[in-house]
Amino acid sequence: MKQDLFKKLQQITDQNIADIEDHKKSGNHAIGFYCLYAPTELAAAADAIPLPLCGTRQDPIEVAEQTLPRNLCPLIKSSFGFAAAGTCPFFSFSDMIVADTTCDGKKKMFEIMSDIKPVHVLQLPQQQNFDLFLDSWKNEIENLKTVIENMTGKKITNEKISGAIRLLNLERKAKKRLMDVTKAKPSPLTGMELLTILFKTGFFADKQKGIDLMNEIADVCNALADKGESPFHTNTPRILLTGVPTGVGSDKVVKILEESGANVVAFENCSGYKQAFQVDETKDPVLALAEQYLAIPCSVMSPNQGRFDLLEEMIREFSVDGVVDLTWQACHTYNVEAYKIQDFVNERFNLPYLHIETDYSESDTEQLRVRIEAFLEMI
Ligand code: SF4
Ligand code: SF4
Repeated sequence: MKQDLFKKLQQITDQNIADIEDHKKSGNHAIGFYCLYAPTELAAAADAIPLPLCGTRQDPIEVAEQTLPRNLCPLIKSSFGFAAAGTCPFFSFSDMIVADTTCDGKKKMFEIMSDIKPVHVLQLPQQQNFDLFLDSWKNEIENLKTVIENMTGKKITNEKISGAIRLLNLERKAKKRLMDVTKAKPSPLTGMELLTILFKTGFFADKQKGIDLMNEIADVCNALADKGESPFHTNTPRILLTGVPTGVGSDKVVKILEESGANVVAFENCSGYKQAFQVDETKDPVLALAEQYLAIPCSVMSPNQGRFDLLEEMIREFSVDGVVDLTWQACHTYNVEAYKIQDFVNERFNLPYLHIETDYSESDTEQLRVRIEAFLEMI
């Protein structure tokens, strides 16, 4: 039954490119987004498809390195490489790109990317102090609204934004339901299956199709969990993966963990549980977006207390046996924050912790396997 749902996921994925083409042929737009801080609701409110564009593959990095320094985060190089080589259909479909000033490498890369396609950069505060920064961040969201209105020729009313918030809240709720099925012990889904579903449904032109499919998979998985059906034993080590975003293509560490006998049950990152929030539907919609998006606990914020709070909740709720903290090479914020995360995991929870710094290549796979196997033996 689970297999049938994966077939359905693949069919919708295959159909998706044609759906985006049809949407664009009818005079609508698509907007590419690179970061979780960017409010995709504004695209949806202008009948544009929001497309998540983070680069998760190794192949375009060679092209990127003709322009960008080699010693740069692979996520930035992969994103740029896809744009420069023209090999990402979602980048090609995007009429404009919404970028951000989260980290130095990204903001400087976007200056170069703007030669390829119109890029609008959101100036993100470095701190989540609402008294100091909420107004300026709200202004950034208002500016983005105007830019999207001008590009699409569609007026974005408060009613339209509220409608988009409702739709994307449903999507985030379905994602959370799906991610929560792995709370069952043993979990009915592998980490790789969960990652694949989350990644592929993110690109769907038709949000409702994605929402329905995620809910359907969650229903089936919950029924399997009730019957105790799982690819794992009850004593399989349950791992929480924290740190940088991962996707299909940048899943090396998840694969090695599961090949070594663990189950990655929770993803505390932007491709996982950081997307589980709900925007307040009762407030002024722009203010609600500003508040909720600014509260995202990414390491680019200083301090970043929200990540510790989220980790605490997830370590408890997913009954994890160990924490793996993933940093892409040359990502200073996640790399430095790892020191405090290790302390937190070891001292507060007395759990084993492993910090891995790597890139998208396969060059260190065997070395990682040895470290991961030794780590799992401690559990
Ligand atoms: S990890 Fe931080 S910079 Fe990267 S997508 Fe998430 S919020 Fe944006
Ligand atoms: S992983 Fe780190 S360096 Fe790479 S884009 Fe995200 S914040 Fe920037």
